[in-house]
Amino acid sequence: MANVSLKNVGWDHFTRDLSDDQAQAAFKRSVSLVAFAISSYCNRQCTYCPNSIADRKSTQNLMSDDLFFNILRQLSRIDYEGEINITRYNEPLADKEYALSRLRDIRVFLPKARICIFTNGDYMDRAYLDDLARVGVTSIMATVHAGPGGQTDIESLIKEQDRRLKELDLPFAFEGSVAEKFRLATTTHPKGLHLTVAAHDFYRGAEKGNVWAFDRGGALDIPKKFRRTHPCMVQFSELNVEWDGSIMPCCQIQNEVFDHDKYVMGKLDGDSNIFQAWMNASFIAWRIKMFSFEQKDAPCTTCSYGMMMTGVDELAASVKNFRQVLFQATGAKQSA
Ligand code: SF4
Ligand code: SF4
Repeated sequence: MANVSLKNVGWDHFTRDLSDDQAQAAFKRSVSLVAFAISSYCNRQCTYCPNSIADRKSTQNLMSDDLFFNILRQLSRIDYEGEINITRYNEPLADKEYALSRLRDIRVFLPKARICIFTNGDYMDRAYLDDLARVGVTSIMATVHAGPGGQTDIESLIKEQDRRLKELDLPFAFEGSVAEKFRLATTTHPKGLHLTVAAHDFYRGAEKGNVWAFDRGGALDIPKKFRRTHPCMVQFSELNVEWDGSIMPCCQIQNEVFDHDKYVMGKLDGDSNIFQAWMNASFIAWRIKMFSFEQKDAPCTTCSYGMMMTGVDELAASVKNFRQVLFQATGAKQSA
């Protein structure tokens, strides 16, 4: 989750037809997380993942060079120093040569960025980890999704976690336990890469009616009593891009599980201006919708992503004032 500072929220976030320079300035000021998929393939189909519905196992699609380098060139132009998340419902390390080549290029284009990988860790042995550290990866979150025999109970997950930690042969610190239904193992590689190997019971919390796993924009049948009223600031601070250039509103929405590209905000290619795409009419509409303390409609109704906010009172006051002025200025109906 990107850091969101209210002082970065401005009128430009809600304004159409900005010049290229204005769009670029707004992006540079406010985006601290760019997440993209370098490929589509995942070797797993976890029940708490949209990949259990959409097939991402039978084919491997790669992000095109044109699109990949277009994104890097433009981020380089603004000397981007935020986070690059290599993620999005795939297994980014499945093809070692390809992944290392992409990561190497990211580091060359964006020397100040933090490169973070989200992986299931299935392909990552010690030699691969050493290579990832060597090409300049900043951090890895590796989640264990099944025990040695495919089991998903926490004891089996921790058993598999222990097996992997032994193979990685690094000193790990631990947080959590079987009783807490999760255990995180963290370490720092000699080259400075920060590694977390996580074991989670994704279905913990069922007894309270709120399973820990996200329901991914309501796409998954995961019990959630929770109803969101909090704003979502993701569209102010993040850019999320699928392997084929589809721009998504956030990390929670996997486009293939919703019909007709329902929540796709635009499509990037090798020539697109990524800053203008991030300021397009769909983003503006989404920001207006999410910048409120009203109950949220689908796909956000049960989403608790980004709820660990500080300064909620300050945020509430600011949102109220901002919306009042916004609706007066635009003549739209005031409803918050
Ligand atoms: S949760 Fe991760 S490992 Fe499991 S199917 Fe989804 S992307 Fe693949
Ligand atoms: S609240 Fe909506 S826009 Fe925000 S992360 Fe959740 S699903 Fe995405």
